[in-house]
Amino acid sequence: MGKVYDSVIIGAGPAGISTAIYNSRAGMSTALVERGLYGGTLHDTDEIENYTSYTSISGPELAKNMEVQAKEQIGVDHIYGNVKDVFFDGEYYSVYAGKKTIRGKTIVIATGVKYKEMGIKGEDIYKGRGISNCVTCDVNFFRGKEILMIGGGDSAVEGALYASNIVDKVTLVHRRDELRADKISQYRLFEKENIDIIWNAETIRFEGSSGVFSGITYKDKKTNKEYNKDANGAFINIGIVPVTEPFKKLVELDQEGYIITNSALETSAEGVFAVGDVREDSIRQIVNATADGALASKFINKYLESKK
Ligand code: NAP
Repeated sequence: MGKVYDSVIIGAGPAGISTAIYNSRAGMSTALVERGLYGGTLHDTDEIENYTSYTSISGPELAKNMEVQAKEQIGVDHIYGNVKDVFFDGEYYSVYAGKKTIRGKTIVIATGVKYKEMGIKGEDIYKGRGISNCVTCDVNFFRGKEILMIGGGDSAVEGALYASNIVDKVTLVHRRDELRADKISQYRLFEKENIDIIWNAETIRFEGSSGVFSGITYKDKKTNKEYNKDANGAFINIGIVPVTEPFKKLVELDQEGYIITNSALETSAEGVFAVGDVREDSIRQIVNATADGALASKFINKYLESKK
């Protein structure tokens, strides 16, 4: 029947990695399953200034440090796989990732979040051809050019600031007359000479020709008039949605698709835990994601002890 792990962690972002580290130190056999890069959305973050012990560190550098630490842990198997389904046979859980089946006594869902889509005309056509979500990944393609940043939260504002050091001009397009982002980032944004803001602007469609992006059409929500804004590229940073598709039938989700957990980070399914951004109550900060790992591991251990 093959190996049955004490714990199978799905997702190697900060929360999943932290759970693996604490599991290892408690002597629990653990599989850490990841389909992409270790560190998850850390790779989309330029400077991190609010994670204790680092005055400033880049997201990819912090991700690398976490990966190195995770791979040094004894008793943790690192498995590459895209998890599509999880099944409980009454005794153990089976995690299906392509041709691989990984079995565990407990499951930890640490799949995090992904970018929200706008769902407007042209988005699918120009994605990857001028439109992107990840500023740190793609802004270098627009060196010396002009870009649009759609959104008004921390991601859009921090993305605009980062991009402004690389591109000639950034125009932030926001649907209200007030930003949601952190005040410090807002001050930095307003001080930048090569960042403009279009307020009260509802982006209606992405424009282009012959498959090449050329700008947006937006509606001024105060006047209801439509305008065009030309640019070489656009970044969409309008929020995030949880990655919970494979677990819809397994655990209880809230209305937005986040996993509901109790104070022991247990989900509605016995032996299934959730950590990090994918949880309903998460405040989506790295420090909370790593703290979740420590907490979940303690309760996983307790759960396994209770089954002996
Ligand atoms: P967010 O805080 O949810 O902000 C989303 C922004 O996009 C809002 O300004 C929202 O407008 C706008 N928006 C939403 N749907 C839209 C649509 N269909 N069309 C146009 N605009 C739309 O998302 P986020 O900036 O991605 O941040 C996600 C979470 O990560 C937040 O909790 C944030 O604090 C955190 N985060 C933290 C840091 C940091 O601490 N350094 C960095 C990045 C992200 P309204 O304001 O009108 O709703």
